[in-house]
Amino acid sequence: MSGDKAEDEESAVGEEGEAVVAAVEAVAERIETERDRLTDLDSAIGDADHGGNMARGWAEAAGAARDLGDPDPETVAKTVGKTLMSEVGGASGPLFGGSLVFSAAELDGGLTKESAVAFAETYLEKVEERGDARIGDATMVDALTPAVHTFKKSIEVDDLPPLDALAKAVDAAERGVAFTVPIRARKGRASYLGWRSVGHQDPGATSTLFILEELLAVAADRLDREVPDVDATSPTIPDDAEAEDESPEGSK
Ligand code: ADP
Ligand code: MG
Repeated sequence: MSGDKAEDEESAVGEEGEAVVAAVEAVAERIETERDRLTDLDSAIGDADHGGNMARGWAEAAGAARDLGDPDPETVAKTVGKTLMSEVGGASGPLFGGSLVFSAAELDGGLTKESAVAFAETYLEKVEERGDARIGDATMVDALTPAVHTFKKSIEVDDLPPLDALAKAVDAAERGVAFTVPIRARKGRASYLGWRSVGHQDPGATSTLFILEELLAVAADRLDREVPDVDATSPTIPDDAEAEDESPEGSK
């Protein structure tokens, strides 16, 4: 009956919103735990405020998300984005917050694998646009780009379940964070150091990774699954047979 269906849909929205609130709370807790580490990273190449900025912003965001009652995912994301914008400050507040406010609209139909991909893509696009940074500038974009590209490919090409796709995205982000170490910073405060920024891990890329790790942990928990072992999920790189087919020798 249509009444039952509407009720089902309503409760589904409630569950999704509740899951997103749980994710925000997990992120806030993790960022608080990592506060000193983020501060240390920012002391080396910036002004030592990233840990404090992020911990304050996410704590406020978790509170604001909890106060929403029974929200849908879009409302939670928008609220968190607005709170981060006003509370985090620095360069990263508008980047994390403003981009989230914008990309939240992709969740207006609820949380599906399609809406998650659209959300991730829009978020990356907005960070790039606002910060005028691209991959290789040693910023949060270096963690985000491989994560978003891997997530999209894992869903749309490899047809992986969303949790496996998210696990692959987190693994990709981890490598993106490592990539910020041996390269020169070209955006943000770290860029003022010029070549002296080489050898340092970017704080914003690091906090981005922590956020993604928490999203994965909460998603696994909600689905009652273990966090997938990335090596055991289906391949991102074509297997040998396919690779040979596409090699010049194979095509002769
Ligand atoms: P601030 O640099 O103003 O002190 P934070 O310390 O909170 O701000 O954040 C620094 C992080 O912000 C950097 O580690 C980097 O990842 C990110 N960041 C800074 N500028 C940009 C930019 N133009 N584009 C993308 N990310 C940036
Ligand atoms: Mg700083």
